[in-house]
Amino acid sequence: MKMDRKLSVNDADHLVLGGVDAVGLAQKYGTPLYVMEEDTIRAAMRAYRDSIDRFYDGKGLICYASKAFSCKEMYRIAKSEGLGADVVSGGELYTALSVGFPMENVCFHGNNKSDDEIRMALENRVGRIVVDNIEELGRISVLADELDMIQPIMFRIKPGIDAHTHNFIMTGQIDSKFGFALETGEAMAAVKQAIENPSVRLVGVHCHIGSQIHEVTPFVKAAEVMVQFMGDVKKETGYEIEELNLGGGYGIRYTDEDDPVPYAEYMEAVSGAIHKKAEEVGIRVPFILMEPGRSIVGEAGTTLYTVGSVKQIPGIRTYVSIDGGMGDNPRYILYQSKYDFLLANKAGAPADTVVTVAGKCCESGDLLGENVPLAKAEAGDIMAVLSTGAYNYSMASNYNRNPVPPVVMVQDGSDRLIVRGQTYEDLCHNDI
Ligand SMILES: *Cc1c(COP(=O)(O)O)cnc(C)c1O
Repeated sequence: MKMDRKLSVNDADHLVLGGVDAVGLAQKYGTPLYVMEEDTIRAAMRAYRDSIDRFYDGKGLICYASKAFSCKEMYRIAKSEGLGADVVSGGELYTALSVGFPMENVCFHGNNKSDDEIRMALENRVGRIVVDNIEELGRISVLADELDMIQPIMFRIKPGIDAHTHNFIMTGQIDSKFGFALETGEAMAAVKQAIENPSVRLVGVHCHIGSQIHEVTPFVKAAEVMVQFMGDVKKETGYEIEELNLGGGYGIRYTDEDDPVPYAEYMEAVSGAIHKKAEEVGIRVPFILMEPGRSIVGEAGTTLYTVGSVKQIPGIRTYVSIDGGMGDNPRYILYQSKYDFLLANKAGAPADTVVTVAGKCCESGDLLGENVPLAKAEAGDIMAVLSTGAYNYSMASNYNRNPVPPVVMVQDGSDRLIVRGQTYEDLCHNDI
């Protein structure tokens, strides 16, 4: 196994991220350390936006799914690139609000929003609430009534598409906690209720078929199913739904096993399918929304650790222990996710040993990778784990009372702290 992705390495044989020596970053900020490359984030945002311009006459909005990596700076960057944002909780909404994110470009998701969260969304004029179930529709309309407003909504639909991905992250099929089913008539009944309801305005339908998908076909199929449904709604009720939100789920490269599709290819294929189907069912071509999360930030992130003990168990395996683990990256323990590893202080050295990378938490399952190739590691080496920008910091915990590490943004040879690391004092802050 050999990594075929392009890495930047300097004369000292150190990994370089955003023009900055990774070993220097580890020395300056300590480890573990999340490093995010701003150019990569912005390039991904622009690629999505440009694909809407090129293939969909610019009639769409890219909403960054902020659960992938949420902090103030990310909402600032999304705002500056003209993107909208998805939020799934009062906490994400609060963070977006705190930097003046334009609320009309926010979609508020979630399968179990509380009244407080709904009220917060209404009071702040969130552009679209994505309604998950009929009970929620009732609560939104009561609260909108109280505030004397009409809330734009979308319905989350289960299009019944199997996107060939890990069960835990497959959300489009009928057995899912998210959304309304089509085949039972549940979705159509909800649409009829919403049309009659004066406190909401049904602007769109939404689906999200899964995550880390490397094929165009499931997105095309989902788009066809959704446009068909929009046509059925028009036929049955005369009501024309204006917007189609196709969610996120676009795959990224974690290791060489992944072969991501260029974003523009999704858009080109999906656009063709929507135009064709819209004509067939007799509706106007809808305004489109896309909600990439992982593919905006995933490959932009690298986590740096310091190697501690190296434990060789003859005939079994070698454990290389690092000063982080499931607390800052729970994806291995959750999904057995694969990553590429290297030693940032000997980035050019051949990966001629096979090791298991172990975290420092009190769980045998606290690993970041098993049987992965790595140059010969010693205590004090700086280990880099690649493609950790999505669902790492945002999923971090304080298990074992380890502080959540800081996040540094790098660009053009300069680095800036965007999230301070937690202190021990922070850990006790809410204790009484
Ligand atoms: C998680 C999620 C996304 C983003 O998914 P990625 O796989 O990170 O692109 C988009 N929309 C909704 C509704 C989601 O739940």
